[in-house]
Amino acid sequence: MYSRTTDDYELMSKAGIEVIVQPSFWLGSPRTSVGTFEDYWEHMISFETGRSKEFAIDHYVCLSVNPKESTVRPLALDALEAMSKYLDRERVVAIGEIGYNLINDLEDKLFQLQLNIAVEKEMLTMIHLPHVNKKDGIERTKSVLKNKNLLGLSNKILIDHNTEETIEKTLELGCWAGLTVYPITKLSPTRAIDIIEKNGVDKIMINSSADWGISDPLSVPLVAGEMKKRGFSENDIEKVTFYNAYEFFKQSPKFVWKP
Ligand SMILES: [Zn+2]
Repeated sequence: MYSRTTDDYELMSKAGIEVIVQPSFWLGSPRTSVGTFEDYWEHMISFETGRSKEFAIDHYVCLSVNPKESTVRPLALDALEAMSKYLDRERVVAIGEIGYNLINDLEDKLFQLQLNIAVEKEMLTMIHLPHVNKKDGIERTKSVLKNKNLLGLSNKILIDHNTEETIEKTLELGCWAGLTVYPITKLSPTRAIDIIEKNGVDKIMINSSADWGISDPLSVPLVAGEMKKRGFSENDIEKVTFYNAYEFFKQSPKFVWKP
């Protein structure tokens, strides 16, 4: 929501959205100091929580040094150190998004360090799959989770931006699987629904892209409507557009919103 106007909150409220979780994203241009990370995290925790509240939307956040920001040294490591004091704040329900973008060793280092923090603090984790080379992305993600013995904690891990290429692997790992819907580029509502048709509704959740590109914070209600037209039951629609996400995030003691 950092990149969206207040009009979007109004439309989201009208569309029936009552609660949102916002991950740390890429700001759109490279950062040059640790201070911009801190201001961004504080902005999400305080300002966005207040801005959404005006429209009766409860707001939670996931904090991270985003994969796209994890390759600059020493900045990324310094930012990670600064992040620790924000993690205990109210509203911070997960570490995320973390993972690979270009899939290289510098990203790997930050990914693993942030997984360590999640384990130490017993926090939920939201993992970003790269938008290109997804097959390598999920394979490398899998081997990291395996090597760190984290597959026993798979219920506390959400792997996001799945497509036809990755969904089965994510579900096999026992992790929650996000389908990030975009209006034109990447995963369309139709493709997302096809994936659900093929893989079932367990542990899969739809989420809306809301970033600097062409994106739509109303993608979740949009997909709900499209699923209804395609004949899915109310129960299945509610699972992938609400209850699965709810089941995942309510594992955090700080996610106190109730339906
Ligand atoms: Zn992402």
